[in-house]
Amino acid sequence: TTSAVLSVFDGNGRLKDGHLVPLLANVGGAKDAVKAAAANAQGVGLLRTEFCFLGRDTEPTIDEQVEAYRGVFDAFPGKKVVVRTLDAGADKPLPFLTDATEPNPALGVRGYRTDFTSPGVLERQLQAIALAAEGTEALVWVMAPMISTTDEAEHFAGLCAAAGLQIPGVMVEVPSAAIMSASILTHVEFVSLGTNDLTQYAMAADRQLGPLAALNTPWQPAVLQLIRLTAAGSEAEGHHKPVGVCGEAAADPALAVVLVGIGVTTLSMTARSLSAVAAVLASVTLAEAREIAALALTAPTATEAKERVRAALPILAELG
Ligand code: PEP
Ligand code: MG
Repeated sequence: TTSAVLSVFDGNGRLKDGHLVPLLANVGGAKDAVKAAAANAQGVGLLRTEFCFLGRDTEPTIDEQVEAYRGVFDAFPGKKVVVRTLDAGADKPLPFLTDATEPNPALGVRGYRTDFTSPGVLERQLQAIALAAEGTEALVWVMAPMISTTDEAEHFAGLCAAAGLQIPGVMVEVPSAAIMSASILTHVEFVSLGTNDLTQYAMAADRQLGPLAALNTPWQPAVLQLIRLTAAGSEAEGHHKPVGVCGEAAADPALAVVLVGIGVTTLSMTARSLSAVAAVLASVTLAEAREIAALALTAPTATEAKERVRAALPILAELG
């Protein structure tokens, strides 16, 4: 039965051999953060700040932003909270930043790129994050979405330093950033893989289109190879900087094992998936996770990758 396996997550993600894998939560604001803390998340791996301001047609003031972010920080004293700067555009339009008439919104001015067309908004957001962090005990990290080049990562790190934010990172969700991760990591302290967009862009398949669902899965070996490349970029040049995953892939217990075997160091997910992911991770050693990852990485198709991994993880049958 499920309950035999699914012991309540105690707030420490670890493999069978004791290897630690911090399990964090994806949140969209203070309400989610309180729920995630109650579910024993070890911190927040992705605060989607745009969710605090969806539907707004004017830029939120610094005070409004401070209040929104502080509500999240207060739920995690002494814990890491990774704040993502506004990821406007495509599936998350923010009228004060994005242009609804763009012909290809997913390839358009979205995420970090809104800094090209709306200068100042990102600086003000970083200022608000720094102010919100001052009054709390959360360990605040900041990352930019939709980074494509090393230059962009370097520029973002400079803006964070100017705002007094000490741990800058970037999302890896564009294939070019996965390929350039070693270079990018010379400028930032961590990367976080956004597997939802990384899959969309690697497979050239709109993440919102049902008929493309078979293409649009992080089980695609091509996507797993890009994740491998990103982890290798951190191992190269002796960086050994954190490589997280904050896309939906981290919430799939079988895929979570693959990700850890590939070299991912932290997983961030919707809070309700924490206990299932923790249970399955606790059933394998790091050496076993690496063998399981190799099965998926060398599979010719997404379906076969998934079948091979499920066959190697009998605990999944017990989870149902
Ligand atoms: C992602 O792309 O995987 C991600 C975590 O960001 P979002 O789903 O908000 O685009
Ligand atoms: Mg994304």
